[in-house]
Amino acid sequence: MPTDIEIARAARLKPVTAIAETAGIPEQALNPYGKFIAKVDTAAIPDFDARPNGKLILVTAINPTPAGEGKTTTTVGLGDGLKRIGKNVVIALREPSLGPCFGVKGGAAGGGYAQIVPMEQINLHFTGDFHAITSAHNLLAAMLDNHIYWGNKLDLDARNIALRRVMDMNDRALRATVSSLGGNGNGYPREDGFDITVASEVMAIFCLARDLADLEERLGRIVVGRSRAKQPVTAAELKATGAMTVLLKDALMPNLVQTLEGTPAFVHGGPFANIAHGCNSVIATRAALKLADYVVTEAGFGADLGAEKFFDIKCRKAGLRPDAAVIVATVRALKMHGGAAKEALGQEDLHALQAGLANLARHVENIRKFGVPPIVAINNFTSDSHAEHELIRSFCRNHLGVEAVICRHWAEGGAGTEELAHKVAELAEGGDADFAPLYPDEMPLKDKLETVAREIYGAAGLSLGPRVAARFAELEAAGHGHLPVCVAKTQYSFSADPTLRGAPSGHLVPVRELRLSAGAGFVVAICGDVMTMPGLPREPAAERIHIDAQGQIEGLF
Ligand code: ADP
Ligand code: MG
Repeated sequence: MPTDIEIARAARLKPVTAIAETAGIPEQALNPYGKFIAKVDTAAIPDFDARPNGKLILVTAINPTPAGEGKTTTTVGLGDGLKRIGKNVVIALREPSLGPCFGVKGGAAGGGYAQIVPMEQINLHFTGDFHAITSAHNLLAAMLDNHIYWGNKLDLDARNIALRRVMDMNDRALRATVSSLGGNGNGYPREDGFDITVASEVMAIFCLARDLADLEERLGRIVVGRSRAKQPVTAAELKATGAMTVLLKDALMPNLVQTLEGTPAFVHGGPFANIAHGCNSVIATRAALKLADYVVTEAGFGADLGAEKFFDIKCRKAGLRPDAAVIVATVRALKMHGGAAKEALGQEDLHALQAGLANLARHVENIRKFGVPPIVAINNFTSDSHAEHELIRSFCRNHLGVEAVICRHWAEGGAGTEELAHKVAELAEGGDADFAPLYPDEMPLKDKLETVAREIYGAAGLSLGPRVAARFAELEAAGHGHLPVCVAKTQYSFSADPTLRGAPSGHLVPVRELRLSAGAGFVVAICGDVMTMPGLPREPAAERIHIDAQGQIEGLF
């Protein structure tokens, strides 16, 4: 099998104007960025708001393992499969971040014969949205220090600044810094630091905003720090939001690209799935729903984090009503959940597989709690055995009452997901979906968190760190009690312990800290170690990335 980049490079791309035509996007709404990428101005699409929505299909997964699951690959594969069986479909995905691209994980444009293209551009600078978000965020940071420098009328307490700076790169050297060194003219030295751009609240806001006006209002609510009287100080008080919005104006239009099989795909926004909600922009999802009969979209991490936040944050706030959820599982990852070692995943092991199915079973039950009908997609790896596939299928049918479909999109493209496409279409048209978030807005914050812990993680309850109880009370008193909660915990386990695979239950979820994302509109509960500025591995992918004599990029994956 050729590498992802070899496959992507060999593809004959259609002009973006042809892809727009497939999606029913009129020419006046298209702002091309070269031949194969365009931003789409939905305001220029006739009757846009009045159109009915298509069916919304979420692709999520079991808890990830180092064995890999393939959510993005399956999202693309299912989109292509739906197109093959004659459906009018648009895919909606997150934009990749440069950090992981040069680190361990590589790009995020799918894999094998289920990719979005042009792969190099999508994975690198693309249309500059992340640069715009980085600039808007850092403008706010600059205006904050400038405000302190010129007299600090808002009486900001330099020991209580919440806003850090951001950059779209993995760079552990910048996690904790001291700014304003070098003398009087450079301001007041204070502790500072950088997060990766995808962890910026501006990114989360960008992805939840309905339109430019909503974006500006949300930006204004960002709490940058506290005054010495312990009152929150916002971006609006720093008068930063007008200029930030200006920087984000063009970025806010969704980016149109294509799959290897010419299926239209919006790729727009990309918030972290831990301290934020982990899915592409509401604007892109809405645009896709207005244009297509079927929209396939992905949520980050496993379903305990990704799908829960997609439902409880994104769908709740944007008024979206998902019609079906595809849970991606692999034989390899299920065997790891059942206790198999990473080195042994190539061999058939029905015993470990059977044990690991507990992880999948919990996710299936969880998805049903939101009133969304699930289906399981087994992303086939060449090492899978027929007996292993049959074990998963019969377990799903007999014990979970859910279909499990073998998918070969990585090796075969959309032809490998035709069966899944038929079943997903049936499920979405079946009228069984009756979406409701897990908890109501008016439930107190602590109860919301406890509900997620018990219902989704199988936990016995919460264990609150020092000051967390007081912080709940403080947030409620300040009028933030109606917000949903956004849990930041490990993606590898239902628990907060990344080594607990399978379906652990009865554990306590340790809540270390609560952070307010007032602009995004959620309260982040930090449960475990959360990295907001990743580092590079010993041998980063960047060491192998270069341009060859033909001018082609090598080493991206
Ligand atoms: P996720 O979205 O869940 O993080 P991706 O879809 O990005 O996962 O896939 C992660 C990696 O696994 C990609 O490099 C992709 O090429 C590879 N991959 C996905 N499915 C398969 C498969 N069936 N066989 C081999 N490799 C695969
Ligand atoms: Mg992905």
